[in-house]
Amino acid sequence: MSRSETTVIVVGAGPAGASLAYLLASRGIPVTLLERHHDFSREFRGEVLLPSGFEALREMGLHNIVTTIPHVVPTAFELYANGRPVFQVPFNADTFGSSPLTALSQPAFLKAIIERTRTLPHFRVELGVTVNELLRADGHVTGVALRGPSGDQTLHSDLVVGADGRNSIVRRACNLQAHKHGIDFDIVWFKTPLPEYIGDQAPFRAYFGRRHLLIAYPSADGFLQTAWIIHKGTYGELRRRGISEWIEEMAHHVTPDLATHLRAHKGSLTNPFLLSTVSDRVTHWSAPGALVIGDAAHTMSPVGAQGINIALRDVVVAANHLVPVLRQPRASQRIAAATEAIEHERTPELALMQRFQSIPPRLVMGHTVWAAAFRTMIPRLLQFEMVRRRAAATALPTFLFGHGDVRLQV
Ligand SMILES: Cc1cc2nc3c(=O)[nH]c(=O)nc-3n(C[C@H](O)[C@H](O)[C@H](O)COP(=O)(O)OP(=O)(O)OC[C@H]3O[C@@H](n4cnc5c(N)ncnc54)[C@H](O)[C@@H]3O)c2cc1C
Repeated sequence: MSRSETTVIVVGAGPAGASLAYLLASRGIPVTLLERHHDFSREFRGEVLLPSGFEALREMGLHNIVTTIPHVVPTAFELYANGRPVFQVPFNADTFGSSPLTALSQPAFLKAIIERTRTLPHFRVELGVTVNELLRADGHVTGVALRGPSGDQTLHSDLVVGADGRNSIVRRACNLQAHKHGIDFDIVWFKTPLPEYIGDQAPFRAYFGRRHLLIAYPSADGFLQTAWIIHKGTYGELRRRGISEWIEEMAHHVTPDLATHLRAHKGSLTNPFLLSTVSDRVTHWSAPGALVIGDAAHTMSPVGAQGINIALRDVVVAANHLVPVLRQPRASQRIAAATEAIEHERTPELALMQRFQSIPPRLVMGHTVWAAAFRTMIPRLLQFEMVRRRAAATALPTFLFGHGDVRLQV
């Protein structure tokens, strides 16, 4: 069965797809958003909103959503090396201004965006619908083939936007090739109850030493979210050794308060799962009639928690170029120029960010003499305020605020 036309089909209701659908529909562009899941209660996904992502949300007029959903604003960043404190940076109202670093619930965030978008006349969302294939005519993508509750169907549009994440069907169907960046670590994520030592604070802690890294922060759903960074491919061995043994290994790297907490909860780790890390970027973001954004265009390494933030910044730029074109009749002729402009504008930030993301793992976990020297020296050096300031002036502003301004112009 063939379905009625829409101007834009957005495949995937993650942060990129949901917010792009909102922006387009709120500017009067007919949009159909297709999501394969029946709801938004997905497994753990990136949930740290940085000032760069917060600003992008503000540009879209969606920033008020954050205060209406479960969220935590970290009160400090604390760094530990080999179990000892190196430094602490308290966050206050002035640290990030009106765009604070925030841990939020991604399912609640997506649900709130969709609820707001549902009120718009040009918007339709279909959940529980999987896009299997792209439709083509004369070398142009003209729509999608999908499977949903009513069976197999086709849906036509002027533009298909693939916001369908790291295993994007749109990327594959358009044969968009990607540069892969070698990453030699994976992450084991798990949650434990909030430890008592936190009190009424919400510290974001990072522990490094002996070629390991562990990150722990209070999550929006009232747990301690912990990321244990392991060498790629070693998860199987870790599982064979059993939870008790790897909790012991972690306990050796952290402070006594967290070590006691981990040991006390080793029998009840909530939702432990392996995130197999990937970092790549397509060489072209579009094919005639189709565009990819967010993870579908560039799966981000988890370093610096960039995933949601970069995706939201893609959306602002995509809307700037697409809205004026899609408002005009016979848009398809000008869509190609718009999608190329999006790629052109987003590539410098992506290239820089992915380069910066590749550095910390090499230093923290690398086998080279330089990496070993770094690990020995850095805890001592970082005790000096001047060194910290110099270090903070390099990649940190880019990680937090992004590279360049991203402003909504439509
Ligand atoms: C398991 C996992 C853990 C992650 N952990 C982190 C982290 O710790 N830190 C971090 O910064 N980032 C993390 N990320 C990445 C981060 O979540 C994304 O960068 C962010 O969500 C922005 O992504 P997006 O909207 O482009 O894609 P996604 O959030 O991946 O959304 C894509 C959407 O498309 C839907 N979809 C996919 N295929 C189809 C199809 N064929 N038909 C219909 N719908 C489809 C999916 O169900 C999904 O809802 C993680 C991602 C994953 C998958």
